Formats: sequence, structure tokens, C-alpha cells
Amino acid sequence: MRHPGPSCWPAGGRRGSRLLTLAGNAGSGTLVAIDMSDELVSGLLKKTDLRVVFASTPELSRQARATHGTAPAAAVLLSQALTAAALMGALQKSDSRINIQLECDGPLRGLFVDGDTTGLVRGYVKNTLVEYSGGGGQYHWRPVLGNKGFLSVLRDLGGGEYYRSSVELEAFDLAGDLERYFRQSDQLPSHVMLAQLPEGGDAEPLGHVAGLLVQPLPGADLEAFAALGERLRRDFEPALKAHGAEGASAMLRALVPDEDFEVMSRYPLRFGCSCSKDRVLRALLAMGREELTDLLEKEGQAEATCQFCTTRYVIPGDEIRGMLERGAI
Ligand SMILES: [Zn+2]
Repeated sequence: MRHPGPSCWPAGGRRGSRLLTLAGNAGSGTLVAIDMSDELVSGLLKKTDLRVVFASTPELSRQARATHGTAPAAAVLLSQALTAAALMGALQKSDSRINIQLECDGPLRGLFVDGDTTGLVRGYVKNTLVEYSGGGGQYHWRPVLGNKGFLSVLRDLGGGEYYRSSVELEAFDLAGDLERYFRQSDQLPSHVMLAQLPEGGDAEPLGHVAGLLVQPLPGADLEAFAALGERLRRDFEPALKAHGAEGASAMLRALVPDEDFEVMSRYPLRFGCSCSKDRVLRALLAMGREELTDLLEKEGQAEATCQFCTTRYVIPGDEIRGMLERGAI
């Protein structure tokens, strides 16, 4: 677990010098405001044993939209999914990833995102062109997601072990169906909130983007958990409107009782990808000599485009011939 304090920040991650404290003292666990728009803060409400994870994600949401050229509805759902991946990444043990996959029969067709314990998230939607943003109300996203679908989560448990669990879409809302996922898969009641609000009139629909996850630890006060969830559902969007631009610290000050909240971990969030030419070369090697020779004869080169970040890799024919001649394959 990462603890607060300058020593835990990745290089270049700490900016700004405003020192605002959330708690009344300056000891460990005090929430110090960092001038950073995309950030994850994970902590504990000590009196009630409730875990609270908050993610502020406007920049990475806009970067994902620019990377994939997504139309408005696709951009919003991708931003919600990336925010969820950041929240769930914070629940993972060190150096591991989770991914969330949604399959549906509506125009979006599906999405895939993943997140890790360092704050790196990436993802894509199957249909980037979905513009219609729903009609409001409980089934806001139904016209985009359709009538049937699944949400599945793959968690890296470490040591080469993975755990996959799925739920059928019922809420047709990512936050609502993630709550069902936690209840069914982990037998864990959860409050999940994912929201985005425009900025500058409607000029920037992804002006403020954030997510919140609350889960009880063993022995937690479940009445307090239910009451907090009810209050947060009422207060989350108004707080995002009022304090979204000020970042995670301001949001948490507005949402949780500060004297009781202990920060366990916080780090910057970013949209990025781990793809590389080396990975493409490894994939070519995995094809086998015969298939690679066939590809070389037919195509003259190899091309691959990363679905997560749209980077296009071209491996020239000479390089492939070299691999074959060296007996690398
Ligand atoms: Zn990539």
C-alpha cells in the first residue's frame, strides 16, 4: 500500500505547493491538496470502517476522447469506464492490473478498459461514432447499450493467477452494474458513482469527471454505509459542480466527514499505453516461422495498430527477413 508523503510520489508527479489539510492535524493521513486535476485518493473512514476511493479524471477522459476520436456518447461511456478502471485498480494488490469488459447489443457494441496500481489507465470502445447521449432518467444509456449485454471484470491476483467474473447488464448504467458485479462476485455491497458535468456552458461535456467507490471492510458499520451511500448519491453531482475544478482534495472535503477520514494512498492518474515495437516483434515471433514467411510473401511487411492507443507499428520486410535468417524463429 502506498502511503501519503512526498517520498511516495512518482517522479514529476508532485506539483504545486498549496498545503491545505483535510484533517485537523498535520500527521500521517492528512489530505494535502496537490495542484493536479487527475488524481486518485483512497482512504478509510475510521469510526465506521468504510473504504472510500475517489478518482478525478477530466484530463485522461479528454485525452482518451482525442486519441480515439470518439463522438459524444462514446466519449462519456469511455470516460466512465476509465474512471471505474482507476477506482478498481486502487483495490488491487501491488503491481497488478484489472480489466473491465462490456459487451452489449446496442450501438456502442462494447468497450474494454484496463487499469493498474500506478494510476495508468487505457481503453477503447467498439463503436467510436455513437453520438446519442440518451434521454435522461433511470435508463439514460439504454438507447446506446441496447437490451442485452454483459459486464465482466478480470482481476490479476498475482503469481500468474487471474479471476474473471461477469454479470448480465441490468441497470444499463456502468455504476449500477458495477455495484451488482461487486455484490454478486465478491458478496460485497458497494456504492459506485461515476459522473461527468459540462464546463463553459455545454462547450466541454467532459469538463468535470469523477468517480467514487465506497465499500465496507469486515466488521464495518453497515447502517452508516447505507446512510453514507444515500447522502453521497444526493451530494455527488452538486459537489462535482461546485468543487470539481479544485481537484480530489476539495471533492473529498465536501463529501466525507474530514475528522474521521484517513488517507491511505494517493497518486496521479493518466491515460497511457504499454505497447511497444518490442511487443509487436514478440507477437510476430509467436506466429511461427511458416506463418511469418507467408505474411512476408503476401504483405511484404507487417503492420499492427494498438487498439488502446491507436499507435501504428510497421515492421519492414527487411527486418522480418533478418528475424527469419538469424533463426530467431
Ligand atoms: Zn498502445
